[in-house]
Amino acid sequence: ESPPPNHFIRQIVLDDRTAGKHGGRVATRFPPEPNGYLHIGHAKSICLNFGLAREFGGACNLRFDDTNPVKEDVEYVQAIQDDVRWLGFSWDELRHASDYFEVFYRCAEKLIRNGKAFVCDLSAEQVREYRGTLTEPGRDSPYRTRSVEENLDLFRRMRAGEFPDGARTLRARIDMRSGNINLRDPALYRIRKVTHQNTGDAWPIYPMYDYAHCISDAVEGITHSLCTLEFEDHRPLYDWCLDQLDLPGDRDLTEPLRAVGIRCEPSRPQQIEFSRGNLDYTVMSKRKLMALVQDRLVDGWDDPRMPTLAGARRRGFPAAAIRAFWERVGISKQNSVIDVGVLEGCVREALDTQAPRRLAVLDPVRLAITNLADDHVETLSFPNHPKNEAAGNRDVPFSNTVWIEREDFMETPSKGFHRLVPGGEVRLRGVGIVRCEEVVKQDDGTVVELRCTLDADTRPGRPGADRKVKGTIHWVSARHALAAEVRLYDRLFDAPAPDDDSGGKTYRDHLNPASKRVVRGWLEPSLARVTNESTYQFERLGYFVADRHDHGAATPVFNRVVTLRDTWAR
Ligand code: ATP
Ligand code: MG
Ligand code: MG
Repeated sequence: ESPPPNHFIRQIVLDDRTAGKHGGRVATRFPPEPNGYLHIGHAKSICLNFGLAREFGGACNLRFDDTNPVKEDVEYVQAIQDDVRWLGFSWDELRHASDYFEVFYRCAEKLIRNGKAFVCDLSAEQVREYRGTLTEPGRDSPYRTRSVEENLDLFRRMRAGEFPDGARTLRARIDMRSGNINLRDPALYRIRKVTHQNTGDAWPIYPMYDYAHCISDAVEGITHSLCTLEFEDHRPLYDWCLDQLDLPGDRDLTEPLRAVGIRCEPSRPQQIEFSRGNLDYTVMSKRKLMALVQDRLVDGWDDPRMPTLAGARRRGFPAAAIRAFWERVGISKQNSVIDVGVLEGCVREALDTQAPRRLAVLDPVRLAITNLADDHVETLSFPNHPKNEAAGNRDVPFSNTVWIEREDFMETPSKGFHRLVPGGEVRLRGVGIVRCEEVVKQDDGTVVELRCTLDADTRPGRPGADRKVKGTIHWVSARHALAAEVRLYDRLFDAPAPDDDSGGKTYRDHLNPASKRVVRGWLEPSLARVTNESTYQFERLGYFVADRHDHGAATPVFNRVVTLRDTWAR
């Protein structure tokens, strides 16, 4: 892969290194919440964070942001690790925000002792009332003036589990009149008596995202904390927390980690925002993807139509194509929706160079060569890749009866149709020129067989081999063909902005009914011996992958990755 293009975040990193900031170190993290599978949008952040660390000899952690136990599940924890590895990255350390619960707690007590946080008894609804609006300042909570002693006592009792869910919160004491609503005494902790996948029932209180995130970054020695634009307004709170806490200068705060052998050299990280990656014809909110799975509108999180990384993998998208795609899109603060055709283009580009060519017929009609003997069988040699001699050749059996694609024959040809017609000629790829002498039909008019003669003089190596005919079609020897289930996938949604519900429709109304079609195809027999997840170009048809789960020598199953050209009608 070529050297990475520059962008504003990379430039910040370069400048920081030049200035010797963070001792010239670069440390990033990718912090998913384990409440669903990763999608193509997440890959933008993964490529950015792991890519910068790799380029600058730094470290990138995978951190599960598991501070909201109700929505989280170990299935996702495993899937996220698999997907990051599949994308081609490995983390320096695997961490969980829940590893730091003790640190978050110590930090909270420090804020309380310094008069920077208080226990508030307002209900959620009252908190909303007091918060004010964009145009109206908020009002101070009546509990804001509690003494440090009372706050410490109440917070310790919150931690001990003395109060019911929602009874109290710990809030930062910042400024209820701030123009930035995030600074209006935001909640830092809430009471939630739920079991956590990592810490069990040890904690009846859980930290809020903004509070936990900045501390986690500092604890891990992160230098550049990269996040999406919607956190821009949260940056002042990120900075406020870290400035109040001074984790690098107060090692007591992180002592609980070192005590259990967790490496910890706190930093003062800098938050930098970039725009989310969005694709048209796609939804990428985990909530909506979850609904598609739960309501069985797709066949699971890794359905090849899903924009999840597991789905892309099963669809046969090379990981390198997804990396190349986000590199092409670039990093900026400009929000935009990218044409999914660009992603498909990257997939075609990657597969064109790497996918061996094979012959397959997906909608067969029989073509009998009447001037070859009934038991005529020969072995032809085909190049595996037209642009790469090193890929070698393979044997393809040929006989007097082959399958061709039904659409490669027209009884009454439309204008510009250059393939087989009654009395006309076409080249059978790698074989020679055949002429259609007779069309055999069923009573209902369906064509069942095309009886042809092969011009022996046009076979490879013969003097007439270069004789020109307009069309060349592919074929598979009928007696050697391998029957396979072939799944033809197309876009899951038929609207460019399925998320846009302004017209009274929702993304569910935009599901493309033709997004999955299953056919029985006939494949050249070499495809019986391929490994799961290997990709091929079926000549003239598209790129196909041996299904990760369902393909086997006895039950071949191939998924269409993409067609050869962008055929989506807009
Ligand atoms: P969702 O809104 O789908 O729940 P999320 O942002 O809440 O997504 P997280 O698990 O918190 O999901 O995301 C992990 C990281 O991936 C975050 O740092 C987030 O900013 C980043 N990320 C998520 N979606 C995108 C996207 N579309 N483009 C770039 N980065 C993204
Ligand atoms: Mg989320
Ligand atoms: Mg999030």
